[in-house]
Amino acid sequence: MNDNCDGLRIVNLKELGTNMKCKKCKRVLDLQKVSKERLIGCHSVLTIHCESCDVFTQVNTAKVVNKDISEVNAGLVLGAMHSGAGQTSLDKILACANAPPKSNYLLKNYEKLIGKIMEDEAKASCQRAAIEERELVIKNIKKLIQEL
Ligand SMILES: [Zn+2]
Repeated sequence: MNDNCDGLRIVNLKELGTNMKCKKCKRVLDLQKVSKERLIGCHSVLTIHCESCDVFTQVNTAKVVNKDISEVNAGLVLGAMHSGAGQTSLDKILACANAPPKSNYLLKNYEKLIGKIMEDEAKASCQRAAIEERELVIKNIKKLIQEL
């Protein structure tokens, strides 16, 4: 295994298990055969050698949506935003967990995305509340008219 793979990682075990197959022969790959790890924030892409067919396969350790949004990175940034933690706090958490500290990348690239999603949800929530309030007012007016 590549020495650069030391430390802890946040992985989606189900996704990793699904992805641990050789792209050519479909045999299960061996984590001891990692030749390279590319860290994208806290998301890892492992390059693993298949000894059966001598092919290298790239393995994502968690789900990736829209080609470049990692569930690991999005989850960490969302957690940091909810808890009020900034880059320094997130770096300390990752350092204590012996995980590669990459919060600068995370915060820079994901805060805008997560912030937009949270803003959109807040707007949708306000709209739902306004609709609900309007329906209650109409219901109460009808009830009031019936009582008169
Ligand atoms: Zn193979």
